[in-house]
Amino acid sequence: MNDAVSRLDAVRNNIAAAEKEAGRESGSVTLVAVSKTFAADEIRPVIQAGQRVFGENRVQEAQGKWPPLRDEFPDLELHLIGPLQSNKAKEAVALFDVIETVDREKIAAELAKEIARLGKAPRLYVQVNTGLEAQKAGIDPREAVAFVARCREVHGLAIEGLMAIPPFDQNPGPHFALLEKLAREAGVQKLSMGMSGDYETAIAFGATSVRVGSAIFGTR
Ligand SMILES: *Cc1c(COP(=O)(O)O)cnc(C)c1O
Repeated sequence: MNDAVSRLDAVRNNIAAAEKEAGRESGSVTLVAVSKTFAADEIRPVIQAGQRVFGENRVQEAQGKWPPLRDEFPDLELHLIGPLQSNKAKEAVALFDVIETVDREKIAAELAKEIARLGKAPRLYVQVNTGLEAQKAGIDPREAVAFVARCREVHGLAIEGLMAIPPFDQNPGPHFALLEKLAREAGVQKLSMGMSGDYETAIAFGATSVRVGSAIFGTR
């Protein structure tokens, strides 16, 4: 077996065990395999092993490698998990099935415009900067609930979930708990949280999807 495929298998088993441990339904957590920096030839075996949901953090990189893979495998689901510039909104709406990084008014407005123009609506998540890190994207957690409401009411966007990346040097538990609380307050169902180092913890805190890169594809 290819290295990435055997690691994928291990991650799947760990997710199943974490679901069980948390008393959650088997299969309730979606694995988003984060393939950024890896080439199509490294990704293909993972698709052939049955993985269908992938995450990329740059629009331009994804535009280069995913259209041919999509022709080969029509049932793929692609998530944008990196910061979105407003001048890339059109490309993002055209390419991605899920955009997890809506985090400001201007992006919400641009996405609404492109969704109307292209007649294609990706599912949307609001990214929350739970650690209030200056260098990190995401809306201030104190503004998150009101922002979700404005996305809906002002921009007509159906926000489906929240996403966060906790500070790498902190215990992620409180950040996951905060995101779960904000999702309840905002009335959204999906929680994208947990990466290679902490996806099992995130599942215990209610993650509905985990974004796992290096634990599958190896170090970048
Ligand atoms: C790269 C990335 C991941 C995956 O990180 P790993 O630690 O390699 O699992 C998850 N989420 C986001 C937003 C990323 O940019």
